[in-house]
Amino acid sequence: MMYSLNTEDATQLQNYMQKAVERSKYFLGYPIATDFDYSELFPLLDLPLNNVGDPMVESTYDLNSRSLEKEVLQFFADLFNAPKDNWWGYVTNGGSEGNLYGLYVARELYPNGIVYYSESTHYSVQKNIQLLNLRSIVIRTQENGEIDYDDLKQMVQMHRDQPVIMLANIGTTMTEAKDDLSKIQQILRGLAIKSHYIHCDAALAGTYSALLELKPGFDFSYGADSIAISGHKFIGSPIPCGLVLVKKNYKERIGRSIPYIGTVDTTITGSRNGHSPIFLWYAIKKIGKNGLKQRALESSAMANYTIEQMRAMGVKAWRNPDALTVVFPQPSNALRQKWQIATENGQSHIICMPGVQKDRIDAFLADLKAEVNAFKVSEEILETV
Ligand SMILES: *Cc1c(COP(=O)(O)O)cnc(C)c1O
Repeated sequence: MMYSLNTEDATQLQNYMQKAVERSKYFLGYPIATDFDYSELFPLLDLPLNNVGDPMVESTYDLNSRSLEKEVLQFFADLFNAPKDNWWGYVTNGGSEGNLYGLYVARELYPNGIVYYSESTHYSVQKNIQLLNLRSIVIRTQENGEIDYDDLKQMVQMHRDQPVIMLANIGTTMTEAKDDLSKIQQILRGLAIKSHYIHCDAALAGTYSALLELKPGFDFSYGADSIAISGHKFIGSPIPCGLVLVKKNYKERIGRSIPYIGTVDTTITGSRNGHSPIFLWYAIKKIGKNGLKQRALESSAMANYTIEQMRAMGVKAWRNPDALTVVFPQPSNALRQKWQIATENGQSHIICMPGVQKDRIDAFLADLKAEVNAFKVSEEILETV
């Protein structure tokens, strides 16, 4: 029996596909690379790939991409200076799942630990904390979105008898601010906190920060116990994905052997996407480490160009050091909708991820300039000279 769509449904699908392509031309507000070409992999869409269970333990479900997933994990283990022979990880559905996994491992180590995270932390973290039924304390942030170290010190001091589970941001969602692991560790040392765990939410900026060796460092050699990244952000993927790495000796408290799948149940979800590790593998192999670095530098130059142009028209734009996120006071609703620009507390941002080309930035700048010239913007947006 051959099935096909009826005319009405086929038209609906056509219209949807056209609209999606159209909207992709006005995509500036979310940190998603759009410059990928995975057409060589299209035949794989005919296969129900599934990496169910632990990536390191073969499964009876042999229609999987574990061999490629392991190479992707190795690439990031090297990039993040994971301790040799003492790391483990898997390709997740995204940064949120990686954060959940990091906190899960932390809770197994320190069931009575308190999670400290800043006000600028991604919304997934609060939900994860609730799911894990962990205690937590929210720490104030500085103007740029970085954690307020004085407030952190005070809060940890008040709860010195409890283990510290630190959720450090390596690029916050709104301003791409980075919490400094060395300052955090200094606080922990100063207060003689022996039981502590540091999870880095590096979903946004982890990959390119490590590639470009940006300071402050955040990887395992700087004291991280686990790191989560998103794969569909800087690397780019048609399907959301991510990756989590933890120190292996911690993770060994988790997971049991399941005869039905013939492997170990060490991951959050059961069935796991078998295609997304292949996208990551393909990008890493095809572009290469140097190519990825070059791509990051180009994005950074684009962010710089955007700021210069905005400032030239009097708009108060800024970015954190080396960030791809350009922050500025919110423009009109119409402009935010057209360019899919996220806004919070009067601040908007555009993110110069790979795929954001100069012509797209220039088109946005022209729209913004028209608003500035027509005084459609509030006073706040403009630099008072
Ligand atoms: C995007 C993001 C997340 C969530 O990652 P997903 O891949 O969307 O699940 C978490 N933290 C930060 C800082 C992010 O930018």
